[in-house]
Amino acid sequence: MRNFINEDKIFDILEETQSPARQSVDTIINKSLELKGLNPVEAAVLLNCAEKVTLNRIFETAKHIKETIYGNRLVLFAPLYLSDRCVNNCLYCGFRRENLNTGTGLLDANKIREETRALILQGHKRLLIVAAEDPDVNIDYLEEAIKTVYDTKEGNGNIRRVNINVAPMEMKDFKRLKNTGIGTYQLFQETYHRDTYNQLHTSGPKSDYLKRLYACDLAQSAGIDDVGIGALFGLYNYKFEVLALLFHAMHLEDVFGVGPHTISVPRLEPAQGSDIASHPPYPVSDTDLKKIIAVLRLAVPYTGIILSTRENAVLRNKLIYLGVSQISAGSKTLPGAYSSDNKAHGQFSISDERSLSEVIEDVTTRGFIPSFCTSCYRTGRTGENFMDLAKPGDIKNFCQPNALLTFEEYLLDYNPELAGKTKTLISSEISKIADPEIRQMTSGKIKSLSRGKRDLYF
Ligand code: SAM
Ligand code: SF4
Repeated sequence: MRNFINEDKIFDILEETQSPARQSVDTIINKSLELKGLNPVEAAVLLNCAEKVTLNRIFETAKHIKETIYGNRLVLFAPLYLSDRCVNNCLYCGFRRENLNTGTGLLDANKIREETRALILQGHKRLLIVAAEDPDVNIDYLEEAIKTVYDTKEGNGNIRRVNINVAPMEMKDFKRLKNTGIGTYQLFQETYHRDTYNQLHTSGPKSDYLKRLYACDLAQSAGIDDVGIGALFGLYNYKFEVLALLFHAMHLEDVFGVGPHTISVPRLEPAQGSDIASHPPYPVSDTDLKKIIAVLRLAVPYTGIILSTRENAVLRNKLIYLGVSQISAGSKTLPGAYSSDNKAHGQFSISDERSLSEVIEDVTTRGFIPSFCTSCYRTGRTGENFMDLAKPGDIKNFCQPNALLTFEEYLLDYNPELAGKTKTLISSEISKIADPEIRQMTSGKIKSLSRGKRDLYF
């Protein structure tokens, strides 16, 4: 396995692009509007911008690009933690092996059902399964867990897409994982800087940098064609990490013809028993985080950018204008915490503790359409098929009506009080659907929902 993250090259690029000239910034911003992405040198120029006026132009461009590709919908999901007992010792994580304060263990099928039920009752349709690494979290267990989630029904609701963020596995197990019907396999490199990686991952299987770097390749080779990448910001220089994420995206695109389905931008949060988590070695300011998200949107326009509840509500309300396309809401980071009042510490602290309904109400007042859409992977729009639609900005012809349909379903089943307040928003969004046939079909499907039909999508 060759390390495709060439550190010297990244440092050289960052050095050469310091103090960028105004004209080259303009040229790069204009190029990004063609939706073909940016190369690492161009991205570095933008990352090296510090002037407020220039940053604002980058932010506006990011908003424009996100809207051109995905429309004004925001996909919502919640994490479902299955275990907190870990064989690894990542120094920033509350679940790490040497942290004796954690370790409530592993959820059994009954508990998974209860957790899923609690999430369905909030209105969720999309979950991200998360687990610490443990011999008990093997493929047999994961198959059973995913089946339990998909089989759980509550009223009109059920979970229609399970994405997963768990430790890498062997090819044969990735193949079995694919057959469970997951959506995206997500794995964060945490830091792409190898020395830093080695210092932070002192023992356990995760201490193998290259194995982690190639995990998404293995997943792709096993047939999981939607993979998600990410870096944990705060561990190392954020500019380095963003360029490394771009090189990772380029590598996946070169080898498989499909770049990352999603990029996550977690920032280090305090975690029990972790000094590093409370005192990040490379603190990332709110402005830096805005820049990270906006530059990623310009550089990899087709990707889903995921923002978690690690960030507080005020900041999240700013970041959703900068290119974010998916957010978690109502999250708990401790196994079992949705269905019981467990006050123990989760994996890390959550900053946005609002419920799903509070988040939804807030984003709708800002003109976003909350989306619980799960249609792409259920209709085979994955991997290259998805990219062929996302790259030219055609995916929004599906995203927009599907967001409206899933939001309407949510209002009918879980939040009738909000329905009155969002009527105008929904009608105005329907009227904006460009294709008259789709517009009419969307109105028709919305009427069918009010007559009791469910799970309608394009
Ligand atoms: N255990 C698997 C792993 O490490 O890849 C999968 C799940 S792990 C629970 C999910 C992610 O949580 C990690 O990839 C890491 O980026 C993030 N994380 C760990 N500690 C964190 C902290 N203190 N603040 C924010 N995110 C953290
Ligand atoms: Fe375990 Fe993942 Fe936490 Fe590392 S980040 S200690 S692998 S749960």
